[in-house]
Amino acid sequence: MRVLNECDKSRYKNVWTLTELSDNAIHSVSYELLGAAKKLAAARGCEVWTAVLEDVGGEQIKTLFAYGADRVISVCDKRLTAFNDELECNILKRLIEKYLPETVLFSATSRGRALAPRLASSLYAGLTADCTGLSIDPESGDLLQTRPAFGGNIMATIRSGDHRPQMATVRPKVMPMPDPDPDRTGEVIREKVTPEDALNIKEILQSIRNCESSLNLSEARIIVAGGRAMKGPEGFKMLEELASRIGGAVGASRAAVDNGWISYPHQVGQTGATVQTDVYIACGISGQIQHLIGMQSCKTIIAIDIIDTTPMMKLADIAVKGDVFKIVPALINELDKIKAEQKI
Ligand SMILES: Cc1cc2nc3c(=O)[nH]c(=O)nc-3n(C[C@H](O)[C@H](O)[C@H](O)COP(=O)(O)OP(=O)(O)OC[C@H]3O[C@@H](n4cnc5c(N)ncnc54)[C@H](O)[C@@H]3O)c2cc1C
Repeated sequence: MRVLNECDKSRYKNVWTLTELSDNAIHSVSYELLGAAKKLAAARGCEVWTAVLEDVGGEQIKTLFAYGADRVISVCDKRLTAFNDELECNILKRLIEKYLPETVLFSATSRGRALAPRLASSLYAGLTADCTGLSIDPESGDLLQTRPAFGGNIMATIRSGDHRPQMATVRPKVMPMPDPDPDRTGEVIREKVTPEDALNIKEILQSIRNCESSLNLSEARIIVAGGRAMKGPEGFKMLEELASRIGGAVGASRAAVDNGWISYPHQVGQTGATVQTDVYIACGISGQIQHLIGMQSCKTIIAIDIIDTTPMMKLADIAVKGDVFKIVPALINELDKIKAEQKI
């Protein structure tokens, strides 16, 4: 057992984020994190730093300053082309021990979820996953990390008062997108991968960096989601047909995913994706709190259910009482008719 020495908190300063790229573009959640970090830094009178462990261009670095970064730590190395949590953890650990940030924020993407716990345990730091709210005690610098607990029935605010850095992950679309200021500038700090960083790490043969960009539920503007009512993969094929006609993506409840009717990246909710679409069409999803947590901020919610008293039907802007297997094909039919008429 390791006994932790008392931490001299006064040595730690600044709020850090990790910037991620997706398909060579900066992931929108990285800007959301910078917005959150800027507010925390303003309360503490300190700076926002962001680390990028990928090949990032000058224009992209400018956008990081525009969205709130004061300094960008850029580490560029061909060994970082494929995501390797072990190597990235070693690099970040060394940088954190060198620059001593008070707070480090990660996005709760697959990468952030793999990296943050590994890093937190190697630094013996506290980590709160999937925060929905972040604020800071301006005096002590303790990060107040709010997240759902006990199956979403209560909101807990967690602080890691004894040690630094304090670390949190935040899901995409939870924090508001800040307004960029194109006149902001900052400093770029170039760091290298050291032989020690790369010592004894496993070799990665194939990149999984972009594995979630193929679906990217959190970027969708329209989602057609299905629940237990879809009865099987065939039901989801019907939803795919509807989604393809309106430029949407297909989402699912955990019940549908657990039944193996659709893969996990489609899951919306507490243990799936958080989405904030213009339109969310819930087909046969009762709307338990663990599902609502992931989609209740969508602008227009349309629910289809045979029971009109479910939480989802009550939450919906438009609640349609009826059988999904009648309503969805009728909708597809109508859309096809409209399209055919437009062609004439
Ligand atoms: C720790 C924890 C984490 C969880 N995380 C998640 C999560 O991330 N996401 C998530 O979704 N769930 C999550 N859950 C599960 C959640 O509690 C619910 O069990 C789940 O969301 C229910 O899925 P559902 O609405 O599809 O199924 P049900 O609750 O069974 O609802 C099915 C609905 O379909 C309607 N229906 C049936 N037939 C038809 C028909 N022919 N036409 C129209 N409507 C019909 C029914 O009236 C009902 O309202 C989690 C649970 C726990 C404990």
